[in-house]
Amino acid sequence: MQIKAPRGTCDILPSDAAKWNAVETIMREKAALFGFHEVRTPIFEHTELFQRGVGETTDIVSKEMYTFDDRGGRSITLRPEGTASCVRSFVEHSLFSGALPVKWFYMGPMFRYDRPQAGRFRQFHQFGVEAFGSNSPYLDAEVITLMVEIVQALGIETYELHLNSVGCPTCRQHYREKLIEFLKPMEKQLCKDCQERLYKNPLRVLDCKVPTCQEAIQGFPVMADYLCDACRIHYTAVQEALAINQIRYIQDHQLVRGLDYYTNTAFEILLPDLGAQSAVGGGGRYNGLIQEIGGPNMPGIGFALGIERLLLAREASGTAMETEKSLDVFVALQRADYRSIALEIVNELRKKQFSADKDYQDRSMKAQMKYAGKIGARVVLIIGDEEVVSGQFTLRNMGTGEQVRVGKNEMVQTLNEMLHAR
Ligand code: AMP
Repeated sequence: MQIKAPRGTCDILPSDAAKWNAVETIMREKAALFGFHEVRTPIFEHTELFQRGVGETTDIVSKEMYTFDDRGGRSITLRPEGTASCVRSFVEHSLFSGALPVKWFYMGPMFRYDRPQAGRFRQFHQFGVEAFGSNSPYLDAEVITLMVEIVQALGIETYELHLNSVGCPTCRQHYREKLIEFLKPMEKQLCKDCQERLYKNPLRVLDCKVPTCQEAIQGFPVMADYLCDACRIHYTAVQEALAINQIRYIQDHQLVRGLDYYTNTAFEILLPDLGAQSAVGGGGRYNGLIQEIGGPNMPGIGFALGIERLLLAREASGTAMETEKSLDVFVALQRADYRSIALEIVNELRKKQFSADKDYQDRSMKAQMKYAGKIGARVVLIIGDEEVVSGQFTLRNMGTGEQVRVGKNEMVQTLNEMLHAR
């Protein structure tokens, strides 16, 4: 029986790789402009890292992790997100005692056992940044600005930036009580998950997508009214810095992160054009997380963007998509006997930085020309009987059909002219 890729995974074929590379290049370049450095952490970690770093009550940890025991009987999990691994690495290498803030970015596959649908996969890719060791609200604004600038640089014009503050554990505790008090009479109208969340993690009820829950919470008290002085001052400064950076946002009281180590600023980018899976990325401050993972009490902030959804959005917005780079020169030979001449030429062309290839199937000249056309070769270099006798090779421009004959010495210059004429 034919073996297919596991459900919820995709092959990125060469015809799509150019688009991925373009997106990744834009992300790398933007991150570098903002002073972030790349980190690469393992794709699997000890399960406990995510239980502590993402939180046992989250959907990710409670329902979606790829967890298994390895041959040594250790519980291992394929990373469902990047922040916990970055924090683990930062703490493990004691980078907290070096120059701060430490600014990192990462890119790579993440794994969640989710129900696959458009824009939702079991293996998907994220680009993310983390900044450790500073509680400056200007750093919050910088991280948000970077996220927005990446989305803009990808040619996506229709997006919404949502912003909120979830305060600190102290002011949130007070808010939490008010929220439970408000939601209690509506308990029966809430979905099953929210009935459970109500006492464990009531803030999460606010971002439940179930319509009956949305109805039940109408008129809910908002966190902004319960922020302590320090959290309010922080939030105001973030908003002022965003204004200076000319970043527009929507104040969204329902944007929450339910866990204690998430603090202050929370943000998300939505692409209304994407339909059901409109969230393309999100992030926030996590001033309690580094300590939770065994490091010092040190602040942090970051975001993650979903690359598949950004690619979908680019396509939907009609952005000109990058295509595979075509072959510069295909070397066609009239007789198999000319193989060694062809090999020498191919080697020489590659040394001169032209992408070059040749026939390996001993095909007829006609079939080789057809193949060269199919793979999109831009120039065909013909080695025929006449060429071998005269030492002059024919170069055929596949775009225009024009042919010229050149000696070996003029080959590089003529090829450069032909390839750069377009
Ligand atoms: P999160 O880590 O859940 O905040 O997700 C950040 C971003 O990653 C989301 O906004 C999506 O763009 C992307 N993402 C999360 N889960 C998936 C998934 N299962 N498939 C594809 N993209 C995802």
